[in-house]
Amino acid sequence: MDYNATAPLEDAVIDFVTDVMKETGNASSVHSFGRAALLHLEKARQHIADLCGTHPNYVTFTSGATEANNTVLDAFRDDKICISSIEHPSVLQACRAEKGLIPVDANGVVCMDALEQILQDDAPDLISVMLVNNETGVIQPVKEIVRLVRRLQPQAYVHADAAQAAGRIPIDFADLQVDYLTLSSHKFGGPQGVGALIKAPGARDAKLLFGGGQEKRQRAGTENIAGIAGMGLAAELAAQNLDRFAAIATIRDKIETVLADTAPELIIYGKDANRVANTTSLCLPGIGSETQLMAMDLAGIAVSNGSACSSGKVQKSHVLSAMGAPDHCASATLRVSLGPKNTENDADLFIDAWTKMYQRVKNKIAAA
Ligand code: PMP
Repeated sequence: MDYNATAPLEDAVIDFVTDVMKETGNASSVHSFGRAALLHLEKARQHIADLCGTHPNYVTFTSGATEANNTVLDAFRDDKICISSIEHPSVLQACRAEKGLIPVDANGVVCMDALEQILQDDAPDLISVMLVNNETGVIQPVKEIVRLVRRLQPQAYVHADAAQAAGRIPIDFADLQVDYLTLSSHKFGGPQGVGALIKAPGARDAKLLFGGGQEKRQRAGTENIAGIAGMGLAAELAAQNLDRFAAIATIRDKIETVLADTAPELIIYGKDANRVANTTSLCLPGIGSETQLMAMDLAGIAVSNGSACSSGKVQKSHVLSAMGAPDHCASATLRVSLGPKNTENDADLFIDAWTKMYQRVKNKIAAA
């Protein structure tokens, strides 16, 4: 139940990646083995373009969304950048330039009024807002953001991190009108260590790796053909299964309803916003997410703490803090993120384990 960390691979993807790995060929070689590798690369590029409503020429493969995000942010290292306050660390920490933070409301949605003010006062060169937040699943109004940017700062560029959106909600790059979009293969059933940057034709060049002329000189280095092929197949399957993904909301909603009935103090962050179907951010004020996480792990259930964990030290979530959560809530949250392989039985097992944990903690507090 931790799909937002990484999604399991479909058997068909594992088989395909394995088969492609048995082939030998560098996509830059002119012989038939090289051409066979190139064919895998271009087929995958087409599937990514189809998933995101764009042209394959705009797709550059990377080692993941981290690299894609870093690539865009690096292209604006000497400019003014404005990002939402709930971005993934691969955006947040890649900002070396002057950085403006767009606040979010209590539901975790970017405040359009605040963005309007920032655009007028600071005239940023790049605006970066994620399409779906990884902790809450809240969908950001990226299309409206682009509209506002084009009206107030037509020379500025817009980037959207779509790592948690691809394969979960329909994405139409042409309709969104962003200049850059980043994807991660392993969030929608492809292998880890592969991603893509989609760049509109008029966007500023964004290059992080220099060397060979691969990826139309946009990203040097021999391509990870098997990984990319797997990402391509996963994209094809995800595009066919968007309805299946949307149906996961039934299980997610059951978990939320039962838990809210059990624990009146439960806070579900982002519940009133437009969310992807699979994610819920469950807060038990004052009960550390690490304690909750370990109780779930002991019951054999893989979920995530809503808070960032670095060097073994749990920190409060910057996302929940930005939403106005006090510290004893921003460090007391579990993120459950489901996927097509989860069943109603999984939800029941989670509800059972969570309820037992809740009772244990309650009893302990009562006895103290
Ligand atoms: N952006 C978001 C919103 C993410 O959730 C993640 C993965 N946690 C990333 C970027 C980084 O993706 P990758 O693992 O492909 O580098």
